[in-house]
Amino acid sequence: MDKFYIGIDLGGTNIKGALFDRDLNCAVERNIPTEAEKGPEHVLVRMYGMICSMLGEKGLTTGDIACMGIGLPGLMDVEAGISLFAATLVDWENIPVSRWFEDRLKVPVFIDNDVRTNLYGEWHFGAGRGYDNVVLLTLGTGVGSAVVMDGRVLYGATASAGEIGHTVMFPGGRPCKCGSAGCLGCYVSATGMVDTIRGKIESGSYSVVCEWVRGDLSKITAKMISDAYDMGDRTAVETMHETGEILGYGLANTINLFNPEIIIIGGGVAAAGERLLKTARETAGKHALKIAGEKCKITTGLLGNEAGAVGAAVYAKHKLNRTSGF
Ligand SMILES: [Zn+2]
Repeated sequence: MDKFYIGIDLGGTNIKGALFDRDLNCAVERNIPTEAEKGPEHVLVRMYGMICSMLGEKGLTTGDIACMGIGLPGLMDVEAGISLFAATLVDWENIPVSRWFEDRLKVPVFIDNDVRTNLYGEWHFGAGRGYDNVVLLTLGTGVGSAVVMDGRVLYGATASAGEIGHTVMFPGGRPCKCGSAGCLGCYVSATGMVDTIRGKIESGSYSVVCEWVRGDLSKITAKMISDAYDMGDRTAVETMHETGEILGYGLANTINLFNPEIIIIGGGVAAAGERLLKTARETAGKHALKIAGEKCKITTGLLGNEAGAVGAAVYAKHKLNRTSGF
C-alpha cells in the first residue's frame, strides 16, 4: 500500500494540518486553535491528537505514514529538528519538535520555517509552479520571505537567507523588532501600514477609519484601510499609495538581488490586492534593472492559507528522498 504524508502549519493562533496521498493530494485536513497560552507540551499534544484523528478518519495507522513535515514560526535548527524560539508561541524555547514526534510516530519528521514551507506549497502547487526562480513575500503582522534560486530553496549559513523584510529602507527610520530601524517590514506589514495612517491622523488628516474606531487609533486594522480606500477616503488612498511605493522599492531591490521570474505576495495584507500591488508594480518597474524587471511577474499567491500544510508535506517528502534542490 502506498504511504501517506503529513503536513502541518503551526501558527500562533491556529494549527492547520493535512494528510496527503503519494501524489500529495489532500485526503483529510484539520484546522484547530493552537491554544499557545497553555505552553509547548500542550501544543505538541494537540498536534499529536490532530494527527491521530486524521489517521483514524481514514482507517490508517502510523505504519501507513512515510514522513511528516512541520512549518513553524521563529528561529530553528532545521537539521537538528529543534525549534529555538517563536515570539508568537508562549514559553517556546529549544523545543525538540522532530524528536518529540519521531518518538511517538516512528517516522522521520522534518521542520522548517513557516514562510519557507509556504513557499514550497506555492512553488509546487500554486502561483510559483513551473518556475525555477521564485520569491515569496508574506505581508502579515511582520514580513516574511523565502527564495528559490536556480531551482533550489536558499537557506544560508544560519538558515536566514533572503530576509527581505529586514532590508533597511530608511536609515534611522521606525524601530524594528530585529534591533535595527527603518526595515522594509516596518512599513509594508499590516502593522506598518496601520502606523502610517495613524501618523497621518495624528498630524491632523481626516479619515473615516477614525470614526470606525471612535477615536481609539490602536484599534485600526489593515482591512479598515482597504475598506476606507474603496470608499475614496483620501487619507486611506494616500496610505495605500505610500505603502505600495515603499513595497515597490523593496521589490526592486529584491529583483536586483535574486533575479526572480515571479514574486508572490502572500499574508493578510495581500488581501488588499491591486490596491497595493498596482503602485508596487509601477515603482518596481521604474527602479529595478530593466531586463530583470521586465522578466519578473508580481502577483498574489494562489493557495492562501492552504500553502503551509501542503508545503510542509512537499518539503518532508523531498527531504526524505533527498531530492536535489532541497
Ligand atoms: Zn528589522
